[in-house]
Amino acid sequence: MFDFMIVGAGFAGSVLAERLASQDDAKVLVVDKRPHIAGNAYDHYDDAGILVHKYGPHIFHCNAPHIYEYLSQFTQWRSYEHRVLASVDGQLVPIPINLDTINRLYGLSLTAFELPDFLASIAEPMENVRTAEDAVVSKVGRDLYRKFFKGYTTKQWGVDPTELDASVTARIPTRTNRDDRYFTDTYQVMPRHGYTRMFERMLDHPNIHVLLNTDYREITPFVPYREMIYTGPVDAFFNERFGKLPYRSLRFGFETLDRSQYQTVGTVNFPNDYEFTRVTEFKHLTGQTHERTTIVREYPCADGDPYYPVPNADNAERYKRYQALAENTPDVHFAGRLATYKYYNMDQVVAQALTLHRRLQSRKRIDAAMPARLSVISGAGLRPSAVSETGD
Ligand code: FAD
Ligand code: UDP
Repeated sequence: MFDFMIVGAGFAGSVLAERLASQDDAKVLVVDKRPHIAGNAYDHYDDAGILVHKYGPHIFHCNAPHIYEYLSQFTQWRSYEHRVLASVDGQLVPIPINLDTINRLYGLSLTAFELPDFLASIAEPMENVRTAEDAVVSKVGRDLYRKFFKGYTTKQWGVDPTELDASVTARIPTRTNRDDRYFTDTYQVMPRHGYTRMFERMLDHPNIHVLLNTDYREITPFVPYREMIYTGPVDAFFNERFGKLPYRSLRFGFETLDRSQYQTVGTVNFPNDYEFTRVTEFKHLTGQTHERTTIVREYPCADGDPYYPVPNADNAERYKRYQALAENTPDVHFAGRLATYKYYNMDQVVAQALTLHRRLQSRKRIDAAMPARLSVISGAGLRPSAVSETGD
């Protein structure tokens, strides 16, 4: 009998497996339908011997020391600050938009001191910033919106930016200085030996059993377990009872080239040309030295593995119905990007999983304290086993 069946060996499932096994001595079965662990963070050496991310570039960044320290138990790190250029008007300029982006695009020589006034002069302030278009236009105006965001967002999401929440483009800040890093988080690191190695160490515990190439539905009739943690798409769990939740997918075009470097930075974005959104060269991210190099182009598409929840009001409404159902499904806990329909980065998924683990632990403590308290209230002796049978 397993204490937990965990569906999905990505960040959500693996963190919970590790915590439950190592902290609570729980017996855990982790099942994934893919042939590997690590979920979308899976990396491996390609035919040329270059470390690549099978499901697109994954760059770790976070501000929370406890997340960084938690993962540090399972990996050493390499410092890496991601930089991205956007191909706009025949030039490669920094994105997020910064002082250099503006000066180079408009042939200006503004200082950091002058830029806020310039941006204020082109911005279209709004009282109610609602959509992904509003979030950009209200800060930097329509011309920069058209150059950097409209095409990219339409391509990435398959809908006009006015049909997406402001939070989507608000992920990308605007800088008035020359900082050209994609992220400004305190911790910007990559697992020194890759994500998969980190997951191997996380799951390497005598209480954890991993079953790959298996859809959980194939085994639930035969494998006894007390509780489930589910990290797949929430609508699939409920057989799409309230209709399908939209997810955006990607096709990845990998190419290995007979040269040691393809581009000067980790990623180049193409907001306005081509069917792909961006090109990433893995060696920048991993620090690997190799005489050849592998790049990946990301082609957004509607069908395929679900990668991105699509943030807008209609989908939030539909998700709420699934969430209510999830909350009323006894002994199944939902965690992760697809199971909670949240556009979360890796660190946010780790934080969510650690929070769920704490909740499960405190529930256990309350259950353990219950018999004593109940016997005080009722004045009668209550067999602890009777309580734990129903309450656990
Ligand atoms: P997943 O990794 O999706 O794991 C869920 C697992 O459940 C999957 O392995 C799946 O096979 C399994 N599963 C589903 N259904 C079943 C079933 N019926 N039976 C058995 N198994 C099942 N985050 C960052 O922080 N930085 C980045 O740079 C970054 N880049 C990204 C780039 C791309 C292209 C994408 C798509 C995501 C990126 N992310 C990034 C986000 C990151 O991938 C996620 O936050 C994280 O991997 C989510 O982990 P998870 O455990 O919730 O889900
Ligand atoms: N975005 C854009 N142009 C860019 C970069 C990002 O329009 O050059 C928008 C786009 O809608 C994208 C969102 O901002 O989906 C978030 O970008 P991010 O790089 O965080 O996307 P992810 O890495 O999650 O795919």
